[in-house]
Amino acid sequence: MKIIEAFLDALFPNKCVGCDRIIPKGDSLCDFCFEDIPITANDNRCRVCGCKKKECQCRFHAFHFTSVTAPFYNEDIARRVMYAFKFNRHLEFAEFFAKSMALSVKTDFYGVDFNAVVFVPMLLKNELRRGYNQSYELAARISKILNVPLVENALGCNKKRLIQHKTDFKKRFENVKGVYYPNLSLKGRTVLLVDDIKTSGATLDECAKALLKAGANEVYCVTGLIIKRK
Ligand SMILES: [Zn+2]
Ligand SMILES: [Zn+2]
Repeated sequence: MKIIEAFLDALFPNKCVGCDRIIPKGDSLCDFCFEDIPITANDNRCRVCGCKKKECQCRFHAFHFTSVTAPFYNEDIARRVMYAFKFNRHLEFAEFFAKSMALSVKTDFYGVDFNAVVFVPMLLKNELRRGYNQSYELAARISKILNVPLVENALGCNKKRLIQHKTDFKKRFENVKGVYYPNLSLKGRTVLLVDDIKTSGATLDECAKALLKAGANEVYCVTGLIIKRK
């Protein structure tokens, strides 16, 4: 058995998700990549949209959420790791992201008394195909770390989230209009909304709108990654 295992290891060495370096079995990221993850802490960012001050999106749109935070920028290694988690079943990164996101919440939303954690839903068909909803995986762990109840069925989704890459800022908001709806009352609750990546904020905004419609007092958002324009 040992021989077969050694043979397979030689044939399919375990590689770092960030840089393809060969690393010990069971690891996912090498130390160099871990050190290189682009963190958002200490940057001067807008309290509402979470972007760097000079890239603030609030000039173009009045968001329905109170504030967004994220531990990492959507670039380089952070981006590769998130894509591995999101598309290639690297679920071992869920814990890593959740811990970092929970820390961002504790730091940036210090003193906010949350009483519900919710997440951006996926169309059931897509979730079945992928096997999991990455936002749920993050939210469930964040709920445990922060000791705030997870409300699993808070939001519904009635259309496929369109691929947003190539559309401009304004178009992204039109694309998600009416996609999310509230399933239950969140009257008087202060909600933490969880998603994987924030780009324009259109998805978070549409979800926040639905959560406010459900009676939520305020909606704060946390994502794993946040866009940073060059
Ligand atoms: Zn690496
Ligand atoms: Zn802003």
